[in-house]
Amino acid sequence: MAASVLASNLKATPYWWEGHDLPAHPSAGSPPERAEVVVIGSGYTGLSAALTLARAGRQVVILDAEQPGFGCSTRNGGQVGPRFGPSFAELSRAYGVDKARRLKRENHAAYDYLTDLIGTEGIDCDFKTTGHLLCAHAADRYEPAVRAAETEQREFGIEAHAIPKAEQHREVGSDAFHGAVLFPGGGALDPMKYHRGLLARVLAAGATLFTGQRVTGVERDGKGFTVKLAGRSITAGDVVLATNGYTKDATPWWQRRLIPIGSYIIATEELDPALMAKICPKGRMLNETRKVVYYYRPSPDNRRILFGGRVALSETDPRVSGPRLHEAMVRVWPELRDVKVTHSWMGFVAFTFAHLPHVGVQDGVHYAMGYCGNGVPRSTFYGHKAALKILGHPDGASEMDQLDFQTRPLYYGRPWFLAPSIAYYKLKDRLAA
Ligand SMILES: Cc1cc2nc3c(=O)[nH]c(=O)nc-3n(C[C@H](O)[C@H](O)[C@H](O)COP(=O)(O)OP(=O)(O)OC[C@H]3O[C@@H](n4cnc5c(N)ncnc54)[C@H](O)[C@@H]3O)c2cc1C
Repeated sequence: MAASVLASNLKATPYWWEGHDLPAHPSAGSPPERAEVVVIGSGYTGLSAALTLARAGRQVVILDAEQPGFGCSTRNGGQVGPRFGPSFAELSRAYGVDKARRLKRENHAAYDYLTDLIGTEGIDCDFKTTGHLLCAHAADRYEPAVRAAETEQREFGIEAHAIPKAEQHREVGSDAFHGAVLFPGGGALDPMKYHRGLLARVLAAGATLFTGQRVTGVERDGKGFTVKLAGRSITAGDVVLATNGYTKDATPWWQRRLIPIGSYIIATEELDPALMAKICPKGRMLNETRKVVYYYRPSPDNRRILFGGRVALSETDPRVSGPRLHEAMVRVWPELRDVKVTHSWMGFVAFTFAHLPHVGVQDGVHYAMGYCGNGVPRSTFYGHKAALKILGHPDGASEMDQLDFQTRPLYYGRPWFLAPSIAYYKLKDRLAA
């Protein structure tokens, strides 16, 4: 019965890919035998690193196992803002107030870096300051959300407004919430257009991209590296690892430090403009106060709803997650009950044990990764930082430099603890009063 919410021509690929030629390989042929810098991964991290390096005159070769931007960078929800990550209070408890303040500032700088880049490069990606609305999914979640937002405003100047339940209809046409917090400075973009815009600039700067090239290992070799591919290898002066949630056993040190988690998302069929105006009156980006998050938004053309979240304890098929996300969407907007799902897809985000991204150097290999599901600004920013580190630029320094990139005993990259953790947090979300 549940399957009936799926359109008969359902696509298990991202809505964002519509109208784009994903399998196109910008650089045909085989990669060269030598490169000054090899960047592994062609998502935002890899492209951002490549752009900075190529513009500084380095000869850069980007390798991706799949098509350009096959990972999260063309699959995400396109919500971008300064406010994501652990709260100031959580960071203060873990690292002390001063370090927490610096970590927060760096997070906010990532958003500024992204918006500046889009502006100065003129990247056409439907970027808009839409405002983000954090909706209290239970009555006892409203006040803590307001208090945390007040702290962000006081400490970091992140503008925030408490929206009591009685007024929430002017921001979101739903009775499912117990008030909300509005962050007017948050924005949105089309992730695929942003990726394609960035890629065009990277190629124009002289870097080359080779797709369908899975790296099987990286070995330190004197002053440089041997980057191994099936049946051949590339000698590189420097390597940037930008594989994030798609990191596998080719690079085991990083695999042991990243927790790949599937994030699932659907797009609806086109809705009546009057209905869109009712449910999303101001086109806000929407999130909930749940631990196991739901995130949703209108499409850039304001015709559809894109609704994402985690709806299974273990990884599952988009045909299974689609109806479950639809059910969660109907809980927010009952009037969408008969609306069909036209696209249902997923991607692997990378969490870390510290709930923070990491940028650094291990055995000479530069890396930036672990954006914990909020990576559009941070991958762009930390990819750039990794490049600056290679260039020896002082701005390559990061607040993450002194932070240990933690692993756990007996953890080798298969998150066996995920299902019980998600079950526990879902229960906590349900028990919120
Ligand atoms: C469904 C979903 C929704 C999301 N929503 C948001 C959002 O709204 N806002 C936000 O800020 N963030 C969001 N994110 C997270 C964000 O998209 C990511 O943090 C960001 O795109 C990571 O970029 P990246 O370049 O580091 O990694 P990716 O884009 O994942 O790229 C990694 C690349 O490495 C390649 N690769 C892996 N191994 C190898 C190898 N051995 N050899 C060669 N290539 C290899 C892969 O093929 C892949 O293309 C979301 C993610 C998902 C999946």
